[in-house]
Amino acid sequence: MRPRSKALFKQAQLHIPGGVNSPVRAFKAVGGNPLFIKKAKGAYLTDEDEQQYIDMINSWGPMILGHAHPVVEKAVRDAIGNSLSFGAPTSREIEMAELICTMVDSIEMVRMVNSGTEATMSAVRLARGYTKKSKLIKFEGNYHGHGDSFLIAAGSGAATFGNPDSPGVTQGVANDTLTVKYNDLQAVEELVAANKNDVAAIILEPVVGNMGCVLPEKGFLEGLRSLCDKENIVLIFDEVMTGFRLSKAGAQGVFGISPDLSTFGKIIGGGMPVGAYGGKKEIMQHVSPSGKVYQAGTLSGNPIAMAAGLAMLHYLNDHAEVYEQLENTTKKITAGIQDILDQKKLNYTINQIGSMFSLFFTDRKVKNFDDAQICDMDAFSNYFQSMLNKGVYLAPSQYESLFVSAAIEEQEIQKILESVATSL
Ligand SMILES: *Cc1c(COP(=O)(O)O)cnc(C)c1O
Repeated sequence: MRPRSKALFKQAQLHIPGGVNSPVRAFKAVGGNPLFIKKAKGAYLTDEDEQQYIDMINSWGPMILGHAHPVVEKAVRDAIGNSLSFGAPTSREIEMAELICTMVDSIEMVRMVNSGTEATMSAVRLARGYTKKSKLIKFEGNYHGHGDSFLIAAGSGAATFGNPDSPGVTQGVANDTLTVKYNDLQAVEELVAANKNDVAAIILEPVVGNMGCVLPEKGFLEGLRSLCDKENIVLIFDEVMTGFRLSKAGAQGVFGISPDLSTFGKIIGGGMPVGAYGGKKEIMQHVSPSGKVYQAGTLSGNPIAMAAGLAMLHYLNDHAEVYEQLENTTKKITAGIQDILDQKKLNYTINQIGSMFSLFFTDRKVKNFDDAQICDMDAFSNYFQSMLNKGVYLAPSQYESLFVSAAIEEQEIQKILESVATSL
């Protein structure tokens, strides 16, 4: 089965660590070989063995409109003829900044970077430079990219491989990162009190995607907001995953809480490598060259990447109905899975919001990383392999959310549910 992917994976391992350029792609948590993808269109991936799969990952979020969307494709084609990069300002960057500020209320100024990792690293440096404090609070199981400060109790790939504290991260860096359980406001308040006047920033995924999909409980985000106001701490929402996905204004738009800084990635590049961080003008003005906090990038605001991102964001901004459609599709899928679970008398937990959801192989309510870790990983792996063999491409880890795209229609929903019914 899939002989070509198998051969390519063997070849890849000779000159690429683990055969992949990002760990979770390797299928280590679920066994077997990763698929090598040749092309994709709409809801479907085609692998090197010419087999087709309904895509439930969508490049880990960016392909919210499905693959090779004509609007995004055309924007990129139109931009390419004018050279790929200048390293000088372009008008598209202004259009991008203005559009982001229009879509997300809390953003008054924004800086473009090249990945989500760069965005979060830069936002934390800015928070430290602005507050002149050094400590950072993050939540167990939240992933903020691979910056040193964040690889402490990180979710996602780091959790999948059981080394949340990566070798190579110094004790000095680790000492400045304080971790606490998600959805435990009291624990955060105690941590802040124990580190009085030392905490520069609290960073979190306002809806978590990187320990599977986990929602903030009522009052949690509100509580963090007022704590940060009281203690002069910069509240950073890492919306790399949720930004432009849960609504035009991301999770902050859904929950009505304004962070001081936000980070973006994934959808904002329309499939190209893009990230951004932004927020209050008062804070953002401290970024170089208007301020002293240094941050730069040779390819930042790259014309082709901006063309793709702008096409994507304009489309989402002009088609509010997409979010309704995505939510309806996702709810049909999760309601269908729930029916199957009921029939089979399985008490597994489904968490869902907008077009993000996870099926957790546990009967416990999943509201933090401890709960997610209780899951039956063998059962998950069997389910994953069975779904793959039936032509549905899920995230190869229990610690990942699934992402529904607008290209998934009735026919795909039925196919997904038939596959679930015979895989659980
Ligand atoms: C994916 C992700 C990142 C990292 O973004 P990269 O582009 O992979 O560097 C950061 N934070 C969150 C919440 C993410 O989901």
